[in-house]
Amino acid sequence: MRILDQLYEGKAKKVFATDDPQLLVVRYKDDATAFNGLKKGTISGKGIINNQMSNFFMERLEAEGIQTHFVKELDKRETLVKKVSIVPLEVIVRNIAAGSFSKRYGVEEGLEFEQPTIEFSYKNDALGDPLINEYHAVALSLATRKEIEQIKRYAFEINDFLKKFWKECGITLVDFKLEFGRLENGAIVLADEISPDTSRLWDSKTHEKLDKDRFRRDLGGVEEAYDEVMKRMMRHE
Ligand code: ADP
Ligand code: UDP
Repeated sequence: MRILDQLYEGKAKKVFATDDPQLLVVRYKDDATAFNGLKKGTISGKGIINNQMSNFFMERLEAEGIQTHFVKELDKRETLVKKVSIVPLEVIVRNIAAGSFSKRYGVEEGLEFEQPTIEFSYKNDALGDPLINEYHAVALSLATRKEIEQIKRYAFEINDFLKKFWKECGITLVDFKLEFGRLENGAIVLADEISPDTSRLWDSKTHEKLDKDRFRRDLGGVEEAYDEVMKRMMRHE
């Protein structure tokens, strides 16, 4: 396998073509952004952690019967993935109120839901990733009804798996964002990443934030928090 041209540079990753048209290479950067790119910075070592953590979870999820884009870790920052056509929806699962949910509905961060919730944002930077409902997503042909049902099934299964895993590490999974894509045969697979950039992770005892909120909110100790969750994940195995 040969790595060819860079196809895309995003805020956190670069995507390269390979000599196999069905495969891509993703390279994770240390760049951090928040508030739709308004806040910029670097989290040293983040690319390595996000790459390794995403791959660790994708492999585990595959074993649970959830199809993912993961093929092979190439090095600390680079992974070979199946090329998918990304469904332009950010799929957000929440167990506890935080962030935009708390702000929108005027509820304090930390309110625990009886059942997990799900919501979708339209992945469109120019529009600021607006909240979208399932009917609007179908009306805009972003996904079919059937695809959305599959995405919801997967998203809640992934939540069950991650919630249990993190709990065993002494971490509460508050919320997280997923992206899904379509393979050529039409199958829906989990794509993108699962990391402290895309999840809210709180220490179960102290409720200390161990995720990107430390960067968003200038709380300090950002690198230390990423290292800590990685350490606990590896210790769990
Ligand atoms: P952003 O585009 O939000 O700045 P990133 O820096 O993470 O995000 O860039 C990675 C891009 O690659 C995202 O647009 C994501 O949707 C896309 N992507 C992730 N996995 C795949 C895949 N398997 N095939 C094609 N595109 C993917
Ligand atoms: N999230 C993400 N990318 C986004 C928006 C949100 O990964 O573009 C993640 C975020 O890290 C959090 C969850 O999705 O774990 C819910 O985020 P929320 O809607 O509360 O938005 P925020 O407060 O980050 O603006």
